[in-house]
Amino acid sequence: MSCLPDLTWSRAGFLLWLILMVHVGIGYDVHALVEGRKLILGGVEIPHSKGLDGHSDADVLMHAICDALLGALGEVDIGHFFPNTDPRWRGAPSRLFLEEAARQTQARGGKIVNLDATLIAQEPKVFPHIQTMKANIATALGIDPKQVGIKATTNEHLGFVGRHEGIAAMAVAGIDLV
Ligand code: MG
Repeated sequence: MSCLPDLTWSRAGFLLWLILMVHVGIGYDVHALVEGRKLILGGVEIPHSKGLDGHSDADVLMHAICDALLGALGEVDIGHFFPNTDPRWRGAPSRLFLEEAARQTQARGGKIVNLDATLIAQEPKVFPHIQTMKANIATALGIDPKQVGIKATTNEHLGFVGRHEGIAAMAVAGIDLV
């Protein structure tokens, strides 16, 4: 009797392909919530009493996804490509950063397999906007919205997120790289 899992050759081949070809990256970002700024998440302007502070539009979700994609490519973080000291990126829509991540992927012959992200925000409720966020992110990356996962959670009133001081996002991405 074998203790090996019951694998067919085709399934074993597929798993080998996954291991060899799909590169995985992780991204994480935080921005502070302040008065007098728009709240932009996933390219959607969400009505709220505060917005995220930052040099660009401070779209924490798009930034985490950018870093996940760049991580899968073995690249450095998005701040390296778009320094927050460069006036060209003041107030810039973070869609531009995703477009750059897509260019970097293409330049290496890579194909985005999927990405998945979680927004961690005590408020406001983002669920009604998730489909639009997915569409915005997919359009910027030239992929199908079905390849984009976005979830949201509160922080159960704990820590800086729970005290409404900021919003965090984390993301993973898989890229098929030759
Ligand atoms: Mg950021």
